[in-house]
This record gives sequence, structure tokens and C-alpha cells, in this order.
Amino acid sequence: MKVAAVTGGSRGIGYAIASALAEEGYSLAILGRSDHSQVKDKIEQLPVMSKPHLYFQGDLGDRASRSGFCQKLVDTFGHIDILVNNAGVAPKVRMDLLETSEESFDYVMDINLKGTFFLTQQIAKLMIQQNRRGKIINISSLSAYTVSINRGEYCLSKAGVGMLTKLFAVRLANHGINVYEIRPGIIDTDMTTPAKAKYDELIAQGLTPIRRWGTPEDVARAVVALSTGQFDFSTGEILNVDGGFHLHTL
Ligand code: NAP
Repeated sequence: MKVAAVTGGSRGIGYAIASALAEEGYSLAILGRSDHSQVKDKIEQLPVMSKPHLYFQGDLGDRASRSGFCQKLVDTFGHIDILVNNAGVAPKVRMDLLETSEESFDYVMDINLKGTFFLTQQIAKLMIQQNRRGKIINISSLSAYTVSINRGEYCLSKAGVGMLTKLFAVRLANHGINVYEIRPGIIDTDMTTPAKAKYDELIAQGLTPIRRWGTPEDVARAVVALSTGQFDFSTGEILNVDGGFHLHTL
């Protein structure tokens, strides 16, 4: 039995990742904030190969939730092969850098960076203990290197996930655990709905060489590719899934 943990696997990019991994035969442990009753139907729609998928209601930013998730995962499946650190939030309100509040900074950093760091630490220990070649795939963002002065805390959190990827890649290499970073571009999900008109216009004007929105499935296919074992001599690698946004043109 192959087991994958996907944070934020109840909707958006995370759900597409969960679906794609389930199709590849993985049993899933999904962490999300929503109550089980709200996501039950969607989780039940995922293909099941062996054991039923696990949904754990909890907050990635909360230590007890992270521990509870890991414990439940071990109790249910006994081991883990892949961790996909996907859950993340945008600031509740976009604020100019000069107005960014500590509350918003803490909210975004606690989930996107601190939660991701300490969940990775816990899962990495499990992977080491069970002596299986694991993989950790972090979903960061083009915001890891692109300045948005109206959501600086988000940019900082994603830049942090970039360094987190390198740190764990080096620390875990001797244990046969590879760590990758996927940087999605502009992907059509609930997160980008508030800025839809703006992005429609920018994409039409050529912001991305490939002139379309990305889909959650675009990101999910990249996760599956990294999970196959075809990249076993690569770690700490970044994969841009962004329609070419990262290319500088003149
Ligand atoms: P989304 O549609 O807003 O979905 C976010 C998912 O994360 C939901 O399943 C949500 O669960 C979960 N989540 C959020 N906070 C959580 C917490 N504290 N604890 C546990 N689960 C939590 O977002 P998305 O667009 O799919 O984005 C997924 C990831 O890709 C994020 O890390 C985001 O930063 C990154 N990304 C997105 C884009 C884009 O254009 N959409 C681009 C680059 C990077 P609940 O529904 O239960 O709250």
C-alpha cells in the first residue's frame, strides 16, 4: 500500500493532487480545516485502491492538529511514502506593505511557513523511522520570488518555503528522502477568484507566454511526475508550473 499525505486536499489544487495520487493507487491522508461533513462527499468520490482515505479536520498552524494528524495517519496506514505540503492561505485582506498588520503577518506565516516547517519535521522523522524512501513535495508559488507589495506576508511565507525545501533536501538526502518545490503560477481556484478580472486582463496582455490560466490539474500532474521515482538523483529541485511566467523577456 502506497500512502500520501496531502495538506489542504479538500479543494482547489490540493484536491486535484489528491485525485491524481488516488488514481495512481495511493491511499490518502488529507488535512483540512473544514468539518468532515462539509467535505465527506468529495473525499468519497476519490478512487480507492486499498484502505479508505483518511480526512483529518485540523489547522496546519496548530501544533496539536499537526500531531493529531500524524498520529491518525500512523494508526490508519502504519507508514507514509509522500508528503505534499499544499495547504496555504492568502492574507484575508490585501494591504499595502506600509499598512500590513502583525495579525495578518502571523496568520499567513503560521500556516504557510511555520505549520509547513513543523509538519515536515514530524513527517520526516516518521519517514526516517520507517526506513522507506520517502518524498516531500512543497507547493510554494511564483510569490517565492515575485514582489507583490499588497501581500508582502504571503511573498515572505512562500520565499520561506523555498528555503525550507533546500534545508530539508540537504538534511534528508542521506535517508533517501528527496524534497521538491513546485511553484504554481496563476491557477484557477477559490484563492484567485477575488482577482479574476485583473488576471484575465494581464494574461490576455501576455503576462504569461502560455496565455491561459493554469488549472489545479496542471499542478497535480507535476506532483505525480515527481512522485514516480524518475527524478531520484534530483533533490531540492524547483519545478515552475506557471505558463512560463518566470521567464524574463526583452
Ligand atoms: P484554496 O482553493 O484556497 O484551497 C486551500 C486549501 O488549503 C483548502 O483545502 C483549505 O482547507 C486548506 N487550508 C487552508 N488553510 C489551512 C489550515 N490552516 N490548515 C489546514 N488546511 C488548510 O487554495 P489553492 O489555490 O488550491 O492553493 C493551494 C496552494 O497553492 C496554497 O499553498 C497556495 O498558496 C498555492 N498557490 C496557489 C496559487 C493559485 O493561483 N491558486 C498560485 C501559487 C501557489 P479548508 O477548505 O478546509 O479551509
